[in-house]
Amino acid sequence: MEEYPTFVTHLECSYTGKTYPADQLHGLSEAGKPLLVRYDLEALGKSINKEDLNSRLPEFWRYREFLPVRKSENVVRLGELMTPLLPASKMQQQLGCGEILIKDEGRLPTGSFKARGLALAVAMAKELGVKRMAMPTNGNAGAALAAYCSRADIETFVFCPEDTPRVNVEEIAFQGARTFLANGYINDCGRIVGEGKETMGWFDTSTLKEPYRIEGKKTMGLELAEQLGWQVPDVILYPTGGGTGLIGMWKAFAELEAIGWIGSKRPRMVAVQAEGCAPIVKAFDEGTRHAEPWQNAHTIAAGIRVPAAVGDFLILDAVRESKGFAVAVSDEAINRAHQDCARTEGILLCPEGAAALAALRQELESGRIGKDENVVLFNCATGLKYPMPSRHHKIDLKQPIDYDFIKSAR
Ligand SMILES: *Cc1c(COP(=O)(O)O)cnc(C)c1O
Repeated sequence: MEEYPTFVTHLECSYTGKTYPADQLHGLSEAGKPLLVRYDLEALGKSINKEDLNSRLPEFWRYREFLPVRKSENVVRLGELMTPLLPASKMQQQLGCGEILIKDEGRLPTGSFKARGLALAVAMAKELGVKRMAMPTNGNAGAALAAYCSRADIETFVFCPEDTPRVNVEEIAFQGARTFLANGYINDCGRIVGEGKETMGWFDTSTLKEPYRIEGKKTMGLELAEQLGWQVPDVILYPTGGGTGLIGMWKAFAELEAIGWIGSKRPRMVAVQAEGCAPIVKAFDEGTRHAEPWQNAHTIAAGIRVPAAVGDFLILDAVRESKGFAVAVSDEAINRAHQDCARTEGILLCPEGAAALAALRQELESGRIGKDENVVLFNCATGLKYPMPSRHHKIDLKQPIDYDFIKSAR
C-alpha cells in the first residue's frame, strides 16, 4: 500500500500549547480544549510546489501533504470534488459592492461541507483502529459520519435534537447509523455521547472534540486560495455553529504563509450567526474570549443553532486577529436572502448560506463591509435538503385549459 508523505509532528492543545504525540487516539486535551495537528512545515514546503497540484485530481485529497492520513488505504472516498466559486454578479450590481463569490459546498458528498471534516475524521479513525463512532448532530454532520463510516465498516450512533430537519434524520438512519432523536439541544445530545463513552466503547466524534475534523475543513482555505490564484479575498462570511470551518481556514492560511504560498494578507473573517442563537456575536460585542451558553436557541438555520461551542475562543481569536467581526441576522432576513438568491442568481442556498448573504446585505448597509471589498460567502449545504415555501399553482385537467390564468400566474 502506498504511504502518503505526511509531515505531522505532534498534536497541540489550542489553549495551553501542551503537546501530545501523533499516531494515537485523542479527544480533547487535558485542559478540555480542542487539539490542533502540527506539521513540519519546512519539510512540507520542500516536498511540494504549487505546480505539482496541477497534475492531481480536482478533489481535496490533492492537498494530502497538508493532511494527517499516513496510509492511502485508510482514505475513504465518496468523490470529494473541489467546490465551485460562483460569481453572484447580479446581486453585486444590485448591492453596488465588490465582487461576491459563493463557494458552493452543497456539491460535496452527502450534500454539505461536513463531508470534508468527516472524511478526515473517519480516515484517521480507521488508521487508529476505531470500530465504533458516535456524535450529536443538527443533521449534516451525522449524515456525513453515517456515509463515511458505512463505507469504512465502522459502526455509528447518532443523536439528534428532535427538531432536526426530517430529511437529515432519515438520511442518517438510511445510510446505516443507529439514529436517535432526543428532546433537547445539540449540547444535550453531546452529553449522551460523552457520558456513554465507557459503557458504549465509542469514539466521540463531536465537533472539535477530536482533532481531525478541523484538518478536513482546512481544505476549504487551501482550495479557496488555490482557486483565487494563491490570493485570499478581502472578506469571508462564514455561517458559524461550532466554527470548525472558520478555525480550519484560519489554520490553512497560516500554514500556506509559513510555506510561502501566500503572503501575510488575511481575509477579514466574519462569523455569521442567527439572532435566535448568537453566543459568538454576544461574546465578540462584549469583548470576551469565551462565549456564554445561549438560552432557548431557535432559528430556521439548524446548522448554526449551536448554543455553546468548545472552540469559542478559537473562533473569536481568529475573527479579532483578522479584523473581522461577528454578526447576527434575523430569520426573516435569512428567508428573504434565500428567496432572492434563488430568483436572481439561480443558486439555491441552504438557510445558513442565506444567512451569510443576509449578513452581507446588512453590513454593506452598516458600513462594516466596504463597497470596495471582495467577499466570499459560504453556502454550506445543498438547498435541496431544506423545506421551501409552496409557490406553485394548480391546474384542474377536468376543466378547459386556461392560458390567461397561466399567463398571469406568478
Ligand atoms: C455544520 C453546519 C454549519 C456550521 O459549520 P461549523 O463549521 O461547524 O461552524 C453551517 N451550515 C450548515 C448547513 C452546517 O451543516
